[in-house]
Amino acid sequence: MSVADYKCPNCSSTLKFNPKTQKWNCEYCNSQFGLNDLNSNDLKYQNVEQNKKIDIYSCSNCGAEIITDSNTSATFCVYCKSTAIIKNRLVNELEPNKIIPFATTREEAINAFKKMCSKRILVPKAFKDQKNIEEIKGVYIPFWLFDVNCSGSLLYKAQKEDSREDQNYKVITTKYYKVEREGTIYFNNIPVDGSVNFDDAAMNSIEPFDYTGLKDFNYGYLSGFYAEKYGLTDADVGHIAMERAKSSFIDYLDNDINGYTSKTLKEENIDNRIINVQYVLLPVWLLNIKYKEEFRTFAMNGQTGKMAGNLPIDKLKMFILAVIIFILLFVAVVLGFYSVGWCL
Ligand SMILES: [Zn+2]
Ligand SMILES: [Zn+2]
Repeated sequence: MSVADYKCPNCSSTLKFNPKTQKWNCEYCNSQFGLNDLNSNDLKYQNVEQNKKIDIYSCSNCGAEIITDSNTSATFCVYCKSTAIIKNRLVNELEPNKIIPFATTREEAINAFKKMCSKRILVPKAFKDQKNIEEIKGVYIPFWLFDVNCSGSLLYKAQKEDSREDQNYKVITTKYYKVEREGTIYFNNIPVDGSVNFDDAAMNSIEPFDYTGLKDFNYGYLSGFYAEKYGLTDADVGHIAMERAKSSFIDYLDNDINGYTSKTLKEENIDNRIINVQYVLLPVWLLNIKYKEEFRTFAMNGQTGKMAGNLPIDKLKMFILAVIIFILLFVAVVLGFYSVGWCL
């Protein structure tokens, strides 16, 4: 994979993707280009030339591999902030099939993070430090989208109980059933993350992505952003998609068996196949802030703006706040005594 530096045909400056307009801007001559312009022969040729000069940065501390365009060169690792990153030439990289382009801007991401912090007075200083917040990066995270076809049957043992009472007896009748359900479900776009470094909990919190926003991959979407190279292949994670499909399939058929006092799954016969895999890139605004030797990850869905992150509490600030509250209460109580005494 490589990152394009599309050059403006008018002035040769580098074009930048604008998440708001979903077009490419030249900041020097104010020209604007759409996807069709980018695919025109002139720009395509430049792109091919440019791709020969693409580099990848590997972090020797955490192992993350980040690809940037030659203007957005990396000085530190987006995950662990280590500056021990080694630049290599990118060779024989698998090209993504699809991409969801960023639809939110860097400013929006910064403002959303500041808003989240401003609501909490006990947040440590580091999280309000403009210098730290400025390190927010737009990163495309690698994902595999699996289409899985699931078909098969489930066999249950079920029973219905009925009780009837008259003057002398209580009669309980139990009827036994063999219940079978069979069906086929085709699951589209089951997402499994191909990144080793991205925090799974943060990713779960900013999902879902709207997959109707998937576009055919074009290198131009990466201009001004980072892209992480996948650390896990589709073969590594395919079983996760199959498991998800299978458990949804079982849930679906199971929900269809109603009206029994109890039911037990006795046999399952399921044929589960991956029909199609796509390698896609999903947009995430990412900010890692180190606090007490530990990184806190903040992420914002670059498509929907949904945010995730756990802000720590500054214990010293909490102590000071508790002391202030104690003093105020003490003063209030003392004043209360005085006014009661005075009234008497
Ligand atoms: Zn220009
Ligand atoms: Zn790193």
